[in-house]
Amino acid sequence: MTALARDRAIGVIGAGTMGAGIAQVAAAAGHRVKLLDARAGAVDDALRNMGKALDGLVAKGKIGQDKRDAILARIEPAEAYIDFEVCDLVIEAIVEDLAVKRQLLAELEAVVGENCILGSNTSSISISAMAKDMRLPGRLVGFHFFNPAPIMALVEIVSGLATDASVAQTAFDTAAAWGKSPVHATSTPGFVVNRCARPFYAEAWRLLVERAADPATIDAVMRECGGFRMGPCELMDMIGHDVNFAVTNSVYDSYFKDPRYAPSAMQAEMVAAGRLGRKSSRGFYDYAKGATMPEAATEPAAAPPKQIVFEGELEHFDALEKRAKDGGLPVHRRPAGERGDVILLDGVALRLSDGRTATLRAAETGERELVLHDLALDDATATRMAIAVADQSRGEAAALATAFFQGCGMKVSLIDDAPGLIVMRTLAMLVNEALEAVQHGVVSAEGVDVAMTKGVNYPKGPFAWGRAVGLPHIQATLDNLARHYGEDRYRAASRLRRLVAREN
Ligand code: NAD
Repeated sequence: MTALARDRAIGVIGAGTMGAGIAQVAAAAGHRVKLLDARAGAVDDALRNMGKALDGLVAKGKIGQDKRDAILARIEPAEAYIDFEVCDLVIEAIVEDLAVKRQLLAELEAVVGENCILGSNTSSISISAMAKDMRLPGRLVGFHFFNPAPIMALVEIVSGLATDASVAQTAFDTAAAWGKSPVHATSTPGFVVNRCARPFYAEAWRLLVERAADPATIDAVMRECGGFRMGPCELMDMIGHDVNFAVTNSVYDSYFKDPRYAPSAMQAEMVAAGRLGRKSSRGFYDYAKGATMPEAATEPAAAPPKQIVFEGELEHFDALEKRAKDGGLPVHRRPAGERGDVILLDGVALRLSDGRTATLRAAETGERELVLHDLALDDATATRMAIAVADQSRGEAAALATAFFQGCGMKVSLIDDAPGLIVMRTLAMLVNEALEAVQHGVVSAEGVDVAMTKGVNYPKGPFAWGRAVGLPHIQATLDNLARHYGEDRYRAASRLRRLVAREN
């Protein structure tokens, strides 16, 4: 453990949203903190706001008055860079501008000691680029906190080409000692979270552009079936479409326009229209006073099938069988026959999506009465299911599948026959991106799961989730999406192919 001892002084430059939060985290961990901002009055404002936030914690009984007062007493306003002379770590959280950050680092290096570590909270600038003209570039490390810093557990510890391994380790151990969940990352576009989360938004844009489902339905399915805390549309409305579009463009441009990161024309249109989300009172949803939120598309009650037969032993069959029985449905189980693992509803086949449309699958297999269902985080507890029906279906396929899931206690969203439905395609792309980031040495396999669960609250890390679903199914889904669209965007990562090959 090489964490900085608690009696070491920490400097924070920039007392805005992030700098104030970082100062509070370091002070709460027992460090003396020197806080500086270029704008007169900014540090006083930050301390006042921090005081109010801490008062809230006292009121809720989360901390005592003594602790609140001690945290604030440990934060001292700094007047000039020379005040950082005594610090062993200085973290900058100033404006996101390479030239301004380089200038700041040059001025800091002139005053701090030889062993002082310099940290940057940048969310998008290369640490290698920031270190270019430094006298001791090995001392610079990315210290990427998430907003709000006192609450969000993740800190990406970002190493540039010149960062000393011991500096990155001290930063990592120090963040851990501050009660955070750090992960090591290399300085690559988007680092871990901002890169690995791109498909969460991008697949929603694809579904919207294709008119497969509306925002409220996509959000409801991602929450109630996929187990995400927020759906992609409501989350983008919260982040701000201008901010999300800028991050998307930055990652896309940095990877030389790799189609996997391509933004959406619809996204550009929303930004151009000033529909930025909550902050402009209008994004996907209308936030004006008195406006009502649209409801997710939900099927009306349907008459249950006369006979339900589970053929085979798929992983999720047990949970669904139990729920169907609990719901009083007439359920039978028998070994898989010629049709493979399938749920038969009065002869209609119900199958988990594999990235093909129901229509293509029906054409390829001759199984005309076919309904596909989406992937649930947990089939035992999901409260909504998305389904899609093959165009060839002439009968009651949609109504029977609807009644089956309703009998299992779920709401049902019938969406257009989009390949990979909603959760399945998004998860396949999230797992793929995570595997590629690991292959490229951006982050470790364990690190990416920590990053996505602690940084963006995913219900499961992409690795753990991909393994639970089965990597062969993830690869098949991607291959089918790639075949359907004919786009390089859905190419399976080299590491995924290797892991699947190893398992076979
Ligand atoms: P902010 O605008 O809230 O605060 C920046 C502060 O830095 C301002 O108070 C400004 O007066 C001060 N400042 C600007 N130039 C300065 C200089 N040369 N010297 C001293 N002070 C200076 O911005 P923020 O949202 O806190 O972002 C700060 C950094 O953190 C950026 O690099 C940003 O990319 C990164 N970041 C932001 C978030 C977020 O959600 N806001 C999340 C992670 C990382």
